[in-house]
Order: sequence, then C-alpha cells, then structure tokens
Amino acid sequence: MNRRQLLTALGISSLALSFKGRSYISNKPIKKPIVLSTWYNQSVTANSPAWKILYRNGTALDAVEAGVQVSENDLENCCVGLGGNPDRDGIVTLDACLMDHQFQIGSVAALEQIKNPIQIARLVMEKTPHVMLVGQGAQQFALQNGFKLEGLQLSDHAQKTYQEWLKKSEYHPIINIEKTHGPSAPLSPESNEYNHDTIGMIALDIHGNLSGACTTSGMGFKMRGRVGDSPIIGAGLYVDNEVGAATATGQGEEVIRICGSFLVVEFMRQGYSPEQACKKAVERIRNKTPRNTKDLQVGFIALNKKGEYGAYALHKNFDFGVTSGNGETLKVDSPFILTS
Ligand code: ASP
Repeated sequence: MNRRQLLTALGISSLALSFKGRSYISNKPIKKPIVLSTWYNQSVTANSPAWKILYRNGTALDAVEAGVQVSENDLENCCVGLGGNPDRDGIVTLDACLMDHQFQIGSVAALEQIKNPIQIARLVMEKTPHVMLVGQGAQQFALQNGFKLEGLQLSDHAQKTYQEWLKKSEYHPIINIEKTHGPSAPLSPESNEYNHDTIGMIALDIHGNLSGACTTSGMGFKMRGRVGDSPIIGAGLYVDNEVGAATATGQGEEVIRICGSFLVVEFMRQGYSPEQACKKAVERIRNKTPRNTKDLQVGFIALNKKGEYGAYALHKNFDFGVTSGNGETLKVDSPFILTS
C-alpha cells in the first residue's frame, strides 16, 4: 500500500496534505451517505427518493436527479416545475442543471412545456458535446429524446397569483422576510401561502462521491428570456469532488454576480467549514452588490468531503433539510447576516 492508498483507506484525502495552514485532516469518521436540499418544506419529500438511492449504495448523481424531481412534479410548488409562477408574459420557463463527481455538467435554461428539466439537463450532459441548451433548442432536444410537450395552462395557484400580479404588473423581486420562506413568491397579498423555493440538492454517496442538482421556474414574473443562477454551473451549483459541493437559492442575479456556488467551494478548498464558506460568500454579496440587500434574499448550502454541512443566508427564514444516518430528515435553520 502506497502513501496515497493508505490515506484513502484512512478516509483522509491526499488534498489534506497540501494545506499548511488550515487543514482538512480530521479524526472524525466520514459521514456518508448524506443528502441536503434547500427549503425544509420541500426537502422532506424531495430528500426521500434521493435517500432511498443513497441507502442502497446508489450514486449521488442518481440520488439528486431523482430527488429534485419531486419538486418538479409538484404542481402546488410556486417555484419549481411547470406548476411554478410564470414570467410576465404568462409563460412558465424552467431552468435546471446538475454536476457530478467527475466534473461532468449538464444544463437547460428557459425550457418550456417539459415536465422534468433536470432529466433534460442530464441528457445534455450524457448525450451531447455541449453543456447547456436553452429555449427552443432545449425543447427540441427533449422532444427528440422522447419527452412530450405539456400544455401551456398555468397551475391554479400560479394562475391566481399571475392575475393578481397583472393588476399592477410591477416586477419587484423583494422579499417579505417575516412572511415568506423564499424570495420568488412575495408578490401577491397571499404571499405567505408560498413557502417553497428553488430546489438545490447536494449529496455524498457511500462511494465518497459528491454530486448536485438545481432546478427552478425562476423568479416569478421575470422578464421574458431572463435566466437566473440556477442553471448556471458555478452560480446556482458547483461540485468539486476533492473538496465539496454547494448550491444556492434566492435572487439569482446576486448569485451570478459573485459566482456564488463556485466561491463557496473555493472557500472550502481554502479550509473553511461549509458554514464559514457560505457565510463568506453571503458577505461578498452584501459588500459588493450595487443593489440594496435589505430586500434581497440569498441562501447557500454546502457539503464537504467529510459529510460536514452548513448554510448561510442574507436574511432570516431560510431553512434546509438534511437526511443521513437513520434516514430522518432534519430541519436546520440557516444563520443569516442581516436582520432587516
Ligand atoms: N435562484 C432562482 C433564480 O434566480 C430563484 C429562487 O431561488 O427563488 O431564478
């Protein structure tokens, strides 16, 4: 057994050796498998199929792809899948991406009338020489691969919210921090009914590999053609199997501005814990954005190679769900840096 094999057998990455200051070396056993996802209310159902795959020694990639589809299939979900809020022209457009432990990536953006954008993102990854397809091209690719076109009709709640929004037709992507769990749904007087948001899911499987998936209908009542962070590798999601994985939810423009999920992973590479890494990325937004962060919500969740996890948000009321050990999904309230 050479040195590298010995370290691997001990659960210590050779990467650990390259850090002189902070160190990844720990005597703690690696916690795997484990899966976490944004917004506890949807984690409860979404983590469950992911966990079943992980528990049976399946891959993190299969797990996250299966998990986020629960939210995509839920027509009551305001912010993921075809039940989500439409753009200002009344059309639901979907964004999704995934990334595995081998730096394989796939993504779709502004995809219409296709039920499971995450499946199309995976096909982009596995069957094309590209990493991202958008709009009509993405739809054409889905149809060529046997997917069927769903109707354009809005879900009942989206129709109601859209009609309400049309009265003023103002796009104010602000958050009502007291009442909502997410930044995409605060535009109607009944905003507190909506407690879901974009789902970002990251997992570490029994083989020690990390993967992630992220899927959304984007900010409700966005301009036609607007794409947020969620399908953009490095913004809404990033995985480096030597270090960790991170995913984001909230105001996509702010996450893109700082290459958010990539930044979180890079902070973990420097030796920061998942929570510290998320906090530093949120601070970057607070310090750099030309916008007023008072009304913007962004939250990150992160997981490292040891199965340690953490989160941070700009504002309160961001929570997430973690499933490991006995398969129970734990609710975790994210710390935050701004109180108003
Ligand atoms: N991040 C998503 C976007 O900007 C929206 C959200 O998470 O609410 O499209």
